Order: sequence, then structure tokens, then C-alpha cells
Amino acid sequence: MQVADSIESIRELRKNLSGTVGLVPTMGALHAGHLSLVEEARKDNDVVIVSIFVNPTQFAPNEDFSAYPRDLPSDLQKLRQAGVDVVFTPTPEMMYGTNYQTYVQVEGVSQGLEGEYRSGHFRGVATVVSKLFNLIQPDTAYFGQKDAQQVAVIRRMVRDLNFPLQIAVCPITRETDGLAMSSRNAYLTQEQREAASVLYRAIQKAGAAYERGERHPDILCQIALELLQSEPLAQIEYVSANDPKTLAARHDATEQPILLSMVVKFGKTRLLDNIILPLHLNNRAGLTETLGNN
Ligand code: AMP
Repeated sequence: MQVADSIESIRELRKNLSGTVGLVPTMGALHAGHLSLVEEARKDNDVVIVSIFVNPTQFAPNEDFSAYPRDLPSDLQKLRQAGVDVVFTPTPEMMYGTNYQTYVQVEGVSQGLEGEYRSGHFRGVATVVSKLFNLIQPDTAYFGQKDAQQVAVIRRMVRDLNFPLQIAVCPITRETDGLAMSSRNAYLTQEQREAASVLYRAIQKAGAAYERGERHPDILCQIALELLQSEPLAQIEYVSANDPKTLAARHDATEQPILLSMVVKFGKTRLLDNIILPLHLNNRAGLTETLGNN
């Protein structure tokens, strides 16, 4: 496994690669969710590149940029074991040198949901992902459905800016009690960690109602919301039903797939989770069928 720690070295490495290249962009502190993306990339491509970069421009001033967990030696060990070919580890100074002035703003789909709570977040994401696409020129880039709005924003950007690549969307990897894996789970106290399984229980309850025939988005949200409200430590930011592709809000009963998403805070830690209804769409084939390849 080669580690490219500068813009020059990743460009040089890329020039000498042949075959298909899969890119998995991450912020490090890697867990089994990240590694599931790597595994998919490994299956599909001749070369797998993982980037590790805690991107300052996607954190709002009140967020956890400096506290964000970082453990490069352990990340490199995991990636080596996963059969990754190249790891790109730039610094903020390399990515945003002096007098940096260029940003990518995806409009409609960045608004609402996370866009409302995290000002400037998707502008930072779209900017850094564009830079990674330009530097690495992957054939396919892998993203987790865990960050459903991020997927929608990047797919829109790839189409709008004609990036010549495919986006592969991978299902959410969960802990045994159903909590979606996240680098931020490390912030939870033991009590909060136990309480956090309520997100998955809420999702499952709404999913079960859907399977029994409930098709009204507001009722499905209400079912999830009531379960979340039963957990005293849960500070609910939102529960929402949207079109999985466009993120348009859904309020009318529909047979079209529904993205049910939620954000709940435990102390200062914001946890995201979501599910696509019907439930059988939450695997890679189902996600591709629902969202398309780019
Ligand atoms: P991050 O390091 O949090 O920026 O995540 C890097 C990539 O891993 C993103 O595409 C995330 O959506 C994805 N990811 C994070 N957590 C999970 C998870 N539990 N299951 C699947 N993908 C995930």
C-alpha cells in the first residue's frame, strides 16, 4: 500500500495507474462502515484509493473540527488489511493554500434537512469532493447511504458539472443493537450510547408499519417520532419523509420509495440515521435501483 501525502505525489501516482480506479473519500477514524465501502470498491475495481482528510470547510464554526477523532496509524493498518492500494492523506494547508477562493455550491438539494442545521456544510463537502475527483480521477466513487443528503448533493453535482465517473451508494453498516456506525459515536457516554439504539428502533417501527401497508409519510414520521420521544436522553432535531433522489418533502400517501431520515442529539453529539421504504431497497442493488449510478 502506498501513502501519498501531497498533491504532487497523488498526481504522480495516478499518472502511473492502469485499470479501473475506485475512490472512497473519508475523514478517517475508520470503522466497519468505511471498510464496507472499501470492500465494495475492492470488488469492482483494479485499484482502490482511499482519502483521509478531515475537511475544515465542511465544519461550521460551532462544530467539532479540532476535536474530530484522528488516528492515522490505526487507519493505515485497517486499510492495509483491507487490500487498499493507495491512501491519500493531504493536510488542510495543501488542499486550501493561501488565498484559496473557489467553492462549489449545489443549490436546491443542499437546502433543508442537514442544510438547515449545518450552515455551509454541503458547500464544504461539494468543494472537497470536487477537488478529490479532479486529483484522483476515479472511475467510481463510493459513498454511504448513512449520509443520504450528501449522496443526493454529490450525485447532483456529478451530473451538473459533468464529472466523468459513477457514484456507488452503499448501505448503512450498523452495530449489533442497530446503531449506525459513525466516527462520532466515540463521543457518547455509556448511558448515551445505550440510549442511542432508539434511532434504529424508531426506524424499525416505522418500517414495520410500512410493511403492514401504511403509506402516509406523516403517519410514518409520527410513529418514529413517538418512539424517539420515549427516550429521555434523546433531543430530537427532526424526523422527515422525502423523495430519496430529489429530497423533495413527502406529505401525501405514495407507492414511490420514501426516505425516512432523522437527527437526534445526545448531549452535544448529533446522530443521523435513515431508511428507505420499502425495506428491501436498503442493500446495494436496491439503492442503485432507487438512486441510479450517477
Ligand atoms: P466520513 O468519514 O464520516 O466522512 O464518512 C466517509 C464515508 O463513509 C461517507 O460516504 C459516509 O457516508 C460513509 N459511512 C460513514 N458511516 C457509515 C456507515 N455506518 N455505513 C456505511 N457507510 C458509512
